[in-house]
Amino acid sequence: MAKLHLITYGCQMNEYDSERVAGLLREHRWELTSDETEADLILVNTCAIREKAEDKVFSKLGELRLLKTRRPDLVIGVMGCMAQLHQGTIQRRAPSVDLVFGSPAIARVAELVDRVRRERRPVLETGEGPLVKITARPPAAGRLKAFVTVMEGCEKHCTFCVVPQTRGRERSHPPDVIVDEVSRLAAEGCREVTLLGQTVNAYGRDLTPPTDLGELFARVNDVEGIARIRFTTSNPYNLTPTLIRAMRDVPKVCEYFHLPLQSGSNRVLERMNRGYTRERYLELVAEIRDAVPTMAFSTDLIVGFPGETEADFVETLDMVERVGYDNVFVFRYSQRPGTPAATMPDQVAGDVKAGRNTRLLEAAARTSAERSGRLAGRTVEVLVDGTSKKNTGELSGRTRCNRVVNFDGQGSASVGELAQVRISQVLPHSLRGTLASRPEEAACLSK
Ligand code: SF4
Repeated sequence: MAKLHLITYGCQMNEYDSERVAGLLREHRWELTSDETEADLILVNTCAIREKAEDKVFSKLGELRLLKTRRPDLVIGVMGCMAQLHQGTIQRRAPSVDLVFGSPAIARVAELVDRVRRERRPVLETGEGPLVKITARPPAAGRLKAFVTVMEGCEKHCTFCVVPQTRGRERSHPPDVIVDEVSRLAAEGCREVTLLGQTVNAYGRDLTPPTDLGELFARVNDVEGIARIRFTTSNPYNLTPTLIRAMRDVPKVCEYFHLPLQSGSNRVLERMNRGYTRERYLELVAEIRDAVPTMAFSTDLIVGFPGETEADFVETLDMVERVGYDNVFVFRYSQRPGTPAATMPDQVAGDVKAGRNTRLLEAAARTSAERSGRLAGRTVEVLVDGTSKKNTGELSGRTRCNRVVNFDGQGSASVGELAQVRISQVLPHSLRGTLASRPEEAACLSK
């Protein structure tokens, strides 16, 4: 078998696409290797969300060029968002790249690689294509958790974002196809699925007949063997009472909700074209906590969006305190060519962005510590996924609210089981506990 090495940058969607590519190529006798020096084909799955991510890719392509000098038969391919956006630049800056293809062409990856090898010339494939559900994956015995794409694309046009250009319009996969994929995963031992979409809570409205994410939750909930359902990423604009009820009523949906806020300032939210205000966001959080009091929230925040003043930034800080996030992902605004924000006046200086980044992370660490502190003494449900990184004598897993828990349970609980663990110690990045002697109702962060 020929050897394939995959390098993945960026989001979970990219990780999922890389798995699908590995699965498809496996059907054509390509075997995965973790060693790039022995590969016959290296595919770099790229991210264009920030300039830094793109720089990393070009630097990696520079390294691979040296490898190709020693092994001229090596095929180098670039896929993902940069392939879709910057095919010309890639060909100019990285002439050793033989193949550039966007997400719509993933289903034809084997054919494209064959073409490069046969014709011995670069191949470029970055046009639109039909929506194809690819379920091929490399074998992974005992895979406990898996991503499942339920929709592709986004039509929101936030002014900082390249996704609508790279992933196209919103298109949902039919529920039956998704349930089939989840059932197959469950049959292979998977216990937790994360339903993926750029705006996952807009799922199903483009289908005939239309459906929604809540209905999909109910279908996936019925799949035997699956213990937990997660989903990401949601847009506050598309959050409906029906979905909130589904989060409350569908038992396997975990109490962890990633709800990007991006900014706490209405002025900035408007310039971002996000479609909601801070007041609306707080209302949604209150409605969700009313329905599911144990819900843990995480969010994405951008600092230094063009025109963001100190007063705007303070409003973002204030939102972190008000919501009390369990987890916050902070990004410094990065100018993305072709997006409206890139040419807005009042770009914020790098040192100001860096300072705000630090202050926001400090505030986020405080709220996160406060939230995890509430778990002390509680008994929580943990999906055991392996042994502790620091002590192989201990088991490790995650709560429904996505906290890492290490506990002494060797011999009493095993990987893949849902264990009831009593939290005895709250550490900065994890929790420690002991296996509870009797099963109890799972509890996360009750108010
Ligand atoms: S909703 Fe998300 S993916 Fe869509 S444009 Fe906005 S930031 Fe980008």
